[in-house]
Amino acid sequence: MSFSSLELPKYVLKSLERENYQKPYPIQEMAIPAVLQKKDILGIAQTGSGKTASYVLPILVNLEGIETPSDRHPSTLVLVPTRELAIQVADVFKKFAEAMPYRCKSLAVYGGVSVDGQMQNMRNVSILVATPGRLLDLLDSNAVQLSAVNTLVLDEADKMLNLGFKEEMDEILSFLPEKRQNLLFSATLSPHIENVRSVLLNDPLVIQIEKKEQSIELINQTAYSVKLEQKGPLLRHLIKEKKMQQVLIFTSTVHQANVVTQKLNQNNIDAEAIHGKQTQRERTAALKDFKNGHLRVLVATDLLSRGIDIQSLPFVINYQLPRSPKDFVHRIGRTGRADNSGEALTFVTEEDEHHFKVIQKKMKKFVDRIENEEVTNMISHKYQKK
Ligand code: AMP
Repeated sequence: MSFSSLELPKYVLKSLERENYQKPYPIQEMAIPAVLQKKDILGIAQTGSGKTASYVLPILVNLEGIETPSDRHPSTLVLVPTRELAIQVADVFKKFAEAMPYRCKSLAVYGGVSVDGQMQNMRNVSILVATPGRLLDLLDSNAVQLSAVNTLVLDEADKMLNLGFKEEMDEILSFLPEKRQNLLFSATLSPHIENVRSVLLNDPLVIQIEKKEQSIELINQTAYSVKLEQKGPLLRHLIKEKKMQQVLIFTSTVHQANVVTQKLNQNNIDAEAIHGKQTQRERTAALKDFKNGHLRVLVATDLLSRGIDIQSLPFVINYQLPRSPKDFVHRIGRTGRADNSGEALTFVTEEDEHHFKVIQKKMKKFVDRIENEEVTNMISHKYQKK
């Protein structure tokens, strides 16, 4: 199947070509025609499946002929659970909106930054991508009205419910017109999602894309048996030896993320940390630099293990194991996205052995191991001293 058989206008096909999207992913094949026909959708799909473009493209096409919204009255509302995802989704809208022969301004609004700039930018916005809390603030201060919304998207709805946004979502829904198209995306089909589905969706097309867990086959995994004090030297050795130009390192605590970053910088390896104790401005800047390829190493806590898409990220390193096996799969899933292979390297101390066994069992994959003797040989004494 090709994009041209999905009844997308020529200018959209051109922009797909420019982005090197050669053929639609399965979710796009199914969702795009249905969204164009203004049907409701329940998409069970993870990040990496191409779900964002599956709603962004037809929503942009559907905007044709719709009058530029009167001021501060967006016609599409996308609700997302995290600030980073808000920025990412709005960026996809912006990327494809450029090719449209009519105006379709999008804006991301999220907490952690000043509300003033967002209020000012709200003029003539057609597509508003928002985290629930900030949207309610903006509604409270009359900076935006939702009475013209004809399309609602809930992206990562399961995560929104896990993070306890249910009440806020309900409040937001009360501001929306009853007649509208609803698109609901979730990584899993939990009882929560079934509930939301029953109140929100009208005879939806249900699309279920195979779980991300099954596509970890694309990722080359290696585990290294290490002593605690070898982690730093091994990390530096691997970054240099494998000529890593873009690597995402996961730690399990904010403190460790800062320590690892500092140590790398002392060794002239350009690194920044990203975690929940930073300001949103710092988080956004670090992630942007990393995505653009301006920053070589990003050291993150599990804040970044879900939802965030980094195109063709070649390396992920688990400097520390996450508590949950699910998070392990999410972490390594930042690489090997779509059709690209990637490498995930995991440091395992003696204390981690039992937990790592559990992770491998849950992931249904046994990871190749570099034994400690070999690790010790790899890191020359020059590294160990630092
Ligand atoms: P998503 O699941 O929406 O986060 O998308 C995952 C990644 O796949 C993003 O980097 C997209 O740019 C990319 N992508 C989405 N659809 C296609 C496609 N049809 N061909 C190539 N890349 C795509």
